[in-house]
Amino acid sequence: MVRKEVIINLFLIILTLSAINIFGQSSTPAKKDTVIWDTVPFGKYILHYTDSDAGNFMLIKNYLDNGVTTVEKFFSKKYSKVFNVYVFPNRNSIDKQWSKAWNMAGFQSKCWMVASGVGERLDLLTPSVWKTEACDHDPSNRPEAQNLITHELVHVFQGQLNPHLDFSGMDDIEWFVEGLAVFVSGQLTKDRIDRAVKAIKKGKYPQKLQNASNGDNKCGITGLMVSYIAYKYGKEKLYALLPIDYQNGIMNSLNTNENDFINNWRAWTLKKYKNEH
Ligand SMILES: [Zn+2]
Repeated sequence: MVRKEVIINLFLIILTLSAINIFGQSSTPAKKDTVIWDTVPFGKYILHYTDSDAGNFMLIKNYLDNGVTTVEKFFSKKYSKVFNVYVFPNRNSIDKQWSKAWNMAGFQSKCWMVASGVGERLDLLTPSVWKTEACDHDPSNRPEAQNLITHELVHVFQGQLNPHLDFSGMDDIEWFVEGLAVFVSGQLTKDRIDRAVKAIKKGKYPQKLQNASNGDNKCGITGLMVSYIAYKYGKEKLYALLPIDYQNGIMNSLNTNENDFINNWRAWTLKKYKNEH
């Protein structure tokens, strides 16, 4: 199932479907397992959180505000629409949202999955339970948490400009969607670049772009691909690519084809990082 593959192949986080608030607003009568939301509008986004996060309110707002600023500065453009942010109090509650959004009844997320972003909403498992209900994420590592949330905000920004708010049917350009979020958010770290360059030198790089978002070095590989586009064509070109929802559309806009793109990206990467190893 394609959707399942997307989920499995995700990076630190996930992109995907949908947007139905299955839990209702704070006026909804309480039922068993119902999440009661406190809702606060902040101009660019509407923050929904629960009483258990009342103490984290400012921390989460700061992450969101910093991320929004990073994304808007990068593209020199504003978010085109107001979006919703839901901060879920526990994994059970965010799994229910993802089950509904992805039409996968009884979906149980992997422990490393803590957030998702699409054009109209960002869903986040509250960092206050990452220690007990997540793995590979340290809530005390604020720069890393910031980059993770900024990554999702890149997905929101792109989703708002794309015909597919939720990126459905865009699996062939998952490399671009994820690479963009990695690159813009600051997740293209030296460590990820080093590992990707090492793999490329050994010939371990994708021959097809649709395979770039698989494997151990997917963040480094896809992030470097988007870095290459930014370097060769400019940030304005990255912005121009955001509404495109298929592979040939991106290649045509870059005035190239898949093979040439991969070859030129590989050569650029090895030249740029020739002293890394
Ligand atoms: Zn992502």
